[in-house]
Amino acid sequence: MTIETWIKAEAESLGFALCGITTPEPPNSLPTYLEWLAAGRHANMAYLATPQAIALRADPRQLLPNCQSILVLAMPYPPATANCPTGHGQIAAYARAEDYHSHLPKLLNQLLDHLREHLGQAVSARVCTDSAPLLERELAQRAGLGWIGRNTCLIHPQYGSYLLLAEILLDLPLQPDSPFKAEYCGTCQRCLQACPTACILPNRTLDASRCLSYLTIENKGPIPTDLRSAIADHVFGCDLCQQACPWNRRIATAASPNISPDLRQDLQTLTTQTFKQRWGHSALERSRRRGYLRNAAIVLGNQQDPNALPALLHALQHDPEPLVRAHAAWAIAQISPAHPALTQALQTESDPLVRAELIQGNQTG
Ligand code: SF4
Ligand code: SF4
Repeated sequence: MTIETWIKAEAESLGFALCGITTPEPPNSLPTYLEWLAAGRHANMAYLATPQAIALRADPRQLLPNCQSILVLAMPYPPATANCPTGHGQIAAYARAEDYHSHLPKLLNQLLDHLREHLGQAVSARVCTDSAPLLERELAQRAGLGWIGRNTCLIHPQYGSYLLLAEILLDLPLQPDSPFKAEYCGTCQRCLQACPTACILPNRTLDASRCLSYLTIENKGPIPTDLRSAIADHVFGCDLCQQACPWNRRIATAASPNISPDLRQDLQTLTTQTFKQRWGHSALERSRRRGYLRNAAIVLGNQQDPNALPALLHALQHDPEPLVRAHAAWAIAQISPAHPALTQALQTESDPLVRAELIQGNQTG
C-alpha cells in the first residue's frame, strides 16, 4: 500500500468522506481574490485584506517552511430543514452541531499522530480549519474533491456542498491527485434565483456586504435597513443557495437537529452567561449575544406577529445593548407602526443609534 493510500484510508476511518492531495503551489485564483478585495466585496472583514493575510494566501508555502504537500479533507454535515414556527428563527445547518473549529482540529491531529507513528519519523505539519489564510476551495478542487459551484461552494457529485473543509500542510513529498476538471453547474441558475439579496456575482464570488451569512454572523454593527426584510427568519446564517442546489437534493443523509430557538423568550431572558452556556460550544458564539438578539429582533419584525410585541418592548426598554434596543425599535414599528412605546422611549433614550430608529419608527405608518 502506498503512503497516499494509507493516509486516505486513515482519513476515512476518522470520518472524513473525502481526502485528496495537492501541491503547495501558489493558487491561480489569487488575482480574482485580489479584485474581490479591491472592490470592497469583503465588507468590514478587514482582516482578510491585511498585507500578511494576502501574502499567505498568495503562497501556502509561507505557512509551513519546506511545505511539500497539502492534504485537503472534507467532512459532510447534515442539511437543515427549511421551516420554523412563528416566533422562532432558522439556524444554518453547519452551526447546529458542535463548533467544527473545536472538533475538526482534534481529528486532524489524530491523523497526523497516526501518520508519524506509521512512518516512524518526525513530520512537520500545519493543521488548518478555517484558522489560516488559505484559498481552500481552490486547493480542494486541485486535490480532486469537487468543483467550485456558481454559489461559490465546493460541490462533490456524491456529497453535494454540505462539507466542512480542512487542510494539513506537510513537509512530506506525496503524489498529488488529479484536479477535479469537470464543472457540473451547466446552465443551472437555481442558487442565483434563490438568493434573497442577489449577492452571488458572475465570477463565482459573493458580495459579502449583502450576504445573509455575513450580515447575521460577521457583521458586528447595525444591519442596513434595506436588507432587513431579506433576512426573513434567518437568525444565524443562511443555507438558501445550498438548499436550492440540485446536487444537494440527491444526498441521502439524516437532517440536522431541528434547532429553532424561541426568539421571544430569548429577547426577554437571555443574559451573556446563559448565551455562553447554550451556544458557547457552537458556531453561534461568533455572533455574540448582542448580534444574536439583533438578528432575533429583525426576524420577529419580519414575521409581523403581534404576539412578539411584549418581548420586543421588553428589549427596547431593558436591554443593555444599544444594538439590540435599536433593532427592537425597528421591529416594533414593523408590527405596530408609530407604537406609543416608540415615542415614550425617546424621552429617556440617549444612544444616537437607538434614537434614530425610534424617530424612523415614529414616522412609519
Ligand atoms: S448564503 Fe444566502 S444570502 Fe448568502 S449567497 Fe447564499 S443565498 Fe445568498
Ligand atoms: S444551484 Fe445550480 S448553478 Fe448553483 S451551484 Fe448548484 S448546480 Fe451550480
